[in-house]
Amino acid sequence: MLSYDEARQMVIKQVGNRPRGVATCKLSVGEALGYVLAEEIRTDREYPPFNRATRDGYAVHAGEATAGAKLRCTGEIKAGDSVTVPLAAASCVQIMTGAAVPPGADAVVMVEFTSREGENVTFQRATVAGQNIVPRGSEARAGDVALQPGLRLGFAELAIAAQVGATQLLCARKPRVAILSTGDEVVPIEETPGPFHIRNSNSISLAAQVRLAGGEPVLLGNAQDRIDDLGAKIEQGLREDVLVLSGGVSMGKYDLVESVLQAMGAEFFFDAVAIRPGKPTVFARCRDTFVFGLPGNPVSTMVTFFLFVAPALDLLSGAAARPLAMLEASLAEPLKEKTGLAHFLPARVEWGSGAAEVRPLRWQGSSDIAALSRANCFLVVPADRQDIAAGEKVSVLPRSDVL
Ligand code: AMP
Ligand code: MG
Repeated sequence: MLSYDEARQMVIKQVGNRPRGVATCKLSVGEALGYVLAEEIRTDREYPPFNRATRDGYAVHAGEATAGAKLRCTGEIKAGDSVTVPLAAASCVQIMTGAAVPPGADAVVMVEFTSREGENVTFQRATVAGQNIVPRGSEARAGDVALQPGLRLGFAELAIAAQVGATQLLCARKPRVAILSTGDEVVPIEETPGPFHIRNSNSISLAAQVRLAGGEPVLLGNAQDRIDDLGAKIEQGLREDVLVLSGGVSMGKYDLVESVLQAMGAEFFFDAVAIRPGKPTVFARCRDTFVFGLPGNPVSTMVTFFLFVAPALDLLSGAAARPLAMLEASLAEPLKEKTGLAHFLPARVEWGSGAAEVRPLRWQGSSDIAALSRANCFLVVPADRQDIAAGEKVSVLPRSDVL
């Protein structure tokens, strides 16, 4: 049985080796949040485009504005003003944050360190050349690569695109992810469940996880635990880039997902991973579609999506597979776990007085969505650890949607 790391590497290898390229679309920069860039964006000019003052004060020749020196103020420069006249000797110019420093001036003195009487400004401190000025071109040169293809566009990346005038961005089309829940006990959320039925929460959580991971969910509803219904709905799912199923992958008589996929010619890469929750996770390819059969208990579905499906969606968008961004925290209370499987326990990490501290939450096992909704991370207990003392350093995997 693969460890979760080995299983992730298998996903990354198989999806990374897929033959076809990434389809693209043009999007306006205001719509592109979360998409992966499919082109190179270069700067259109120097940044900053002029020597920019970073404080309100006086533009000076540094050598003249010594402690106690008095200089005549000859004018004022606001942000946006055109600045061409050089600073005359033995003078200073009042300048505002964001304005262009006049030619010849090599420092800006904060107004707080000056006193003014009429046109005369007295400087209280020594002035260092370059202070409070961001030189033209120091952030980026004209023609530099500002954004690389394969980058996921967050707010800072969108701001750079906007700054350089890239108003339309060539982006990877979001991979389409069919979501199919399975189980005779599962009813649509709009219906009132019978006493032994449960609402289909997995389709909702999976669609949310697909969106957060940069995919486009395609909801296929629920399949009954019957070969014909399951087969027909899987067939529909195989039209998309990825098919994610929930349920029907355990050892029960009515867990039919693997056998139905097998009959359709799927190639299986793994059908078990050494984790709890989430052990019976299936990863396969059927025709051109990557198929993930995730166990149906909601917390298992969520953990296994996070571990295995999210990196696949990165790769299908032309981005690098995201790493498992684990943090270190000290354990708040002693922990006793069975060995053999790595455990992902719902937990809360807090940053009280600096160092992170993590506390596992009481939970009833992998059906306990209520516990997970109180958690902001998973506490990751390695497969070979049994007793962990309070205060020991442990790994936590933040729930990136809430933390
Ligand atoms: P399974 O993996 O098919 O054995 O399902 C395990 C358990 O997960 C079931 O007994 C249900 O309680 C729960 N479950 C399965 N499918 C869903 C779903 N779509 N939404 C919420 N819970 C589910
Ligand atoms: Mg089932």
